[in-house]
Amino acid sequence: RLARRGSPPAPEAEPASPGRDLGTLPGMRDFETMREAGAALGMESPFFRQHDGVAGAHSSIGGRRYINFASYNYAGLNGDPRVAAAAKAAIDRYGISASASRLASGERPVHAELEVALAAHHGTEACLAFVSGHATNVTVIGQLLGPRDLLLHDRLIHNSVAEGARLSGARRIAFAHNDPDAAERELAAQRRRHGRVLLVIEGHYSMDGDLPDLARFAAIARRHDALLMVDEAHSIGVLGATGRGIAEQCGVDPGLVDIWMGTLSKTLSSCGGYIAGRRRLTDWLRHTAPGFVYSVGLAPPLAASALESLRLLQAEPWRVARLQSNAALFLRLARQAGFDTGSSAGLGIVPIILGSSLQSARLAAASFEGGVNVQPILFPVVPEGSARLRFFLSAEHSPADIEESIATLVAARDSLAILKAS
Ligand code: PMP
Repeated sequence: RLARRGSPPAPEAEPASPGRDLGTLPGMRDFETMREAGAALGMESPFFRQHDGVAGAHSSIGGRRYINFASYNYAGLNGDPRVAAAAKAAIDRYGISASASRLASGERPVHAELEVALAAHHGTEACLAFVSGHATNVTVIGQLLGPRDLLLHDRLIHNSVAEGARLSGARRIAFAHNDPDAAERELAAQRRRHGRVLLVIEGHYSMDGDLPDLARFAAIARRHDALLMVDEAHSIGVLGATGRGIAEQCGVDPGLVDIWMGTLSKTLSSCGGYIAGRRRLTDWLRHTAPGFVYSVGLAPPLAASALESLRLLQAEPWRVARLQSNAALFLRLARQAGFDTGSSAGLGIVPIILGSSLQSARLAAASFEGGVNVQPILFPVVPEGSARLRFFLSAEHSPADIEESIATLVAARDSLAILKAS
């Protein structure tokens, strides 16, 4: 056929190709069965919901305003005009992309400015920023350990740590949640059989909102010659009087932890991850970690917005105080209403645990009807029998938002005749 002048020729229709059987891909059949079961129950999926604008303490979804507990906006900085201005200024100065690995001409002044500020916030010598929090754990653990080594971690550790272990080829052992004695028993039994041992915990557990006994884990790591790594994804801007994380919360010297890991995507309202610790460690990673060396540098507007968020967090300490008082109020009211909030410390994350995935999905759907956006967390993200609704609190919520939300949850529970969990 002749193409019209100036336009490309129309493509011929391709014959439908049967292709290879994708049902053999890992987990494909289970995934499809679960999706069909949800559709058969007539339930709208609670996943991939589109927010129309900034997802703050309130958010517009499908044109309706919701009280929002499903976003990581702990300090209320996402959408702050000063953070947006910092990103825009960085775009004007540097463009959007770093356009290369930092090692090979992707380095910009804003990278070092961010790293110096993060290191100071953690009380460490140095810091190194990566393009994603998840990728930080994967590539750093992949680099730290090899097949003769051991990764010992809390049973509830984030997926990115397990993925890093898989990449490294190290043996991986999980110990009971927040149980330093269990960790020590494993170390006593396993230490001599392995080269390096990396003990990994979180500063604030993302599904339960509870905290580790950092001083005890640090002492155990020292006693058994293990490196200690703490994932502070949900701690920065959340724990401690000034949001410096679990070390500040527990009054522990940050130097007792070998590797601090954090993310830019939560309190710091950007995207990216980092490692803070001794300069010898970050220098080595800067020159060797594949996810740093062979990946583009953190986008300058993202580095600039994280830096501005950190500056605002320090300049406006009321944000941490308000987040913590909001979380404490939420925890108190949820307990008074008879909900099972597990072991939450009530500092930023509060779960409402129902056990059943179906009941959790139903309660989340009924709450959404009532104007509260909260994510149900279902098996296999949490162990079978511990499905829940997870509430991220924010400095932006008002006490009235929290009272209204608990009332909505109680009404939703009553309408579904879900038994009181406690
Ligand atoms: N660690 C923990 C404990 C997390 O919860 C998350 C993200 N939810 C990450 C790491 C990964 O961070 P990011 O989402 O910024 O990639």
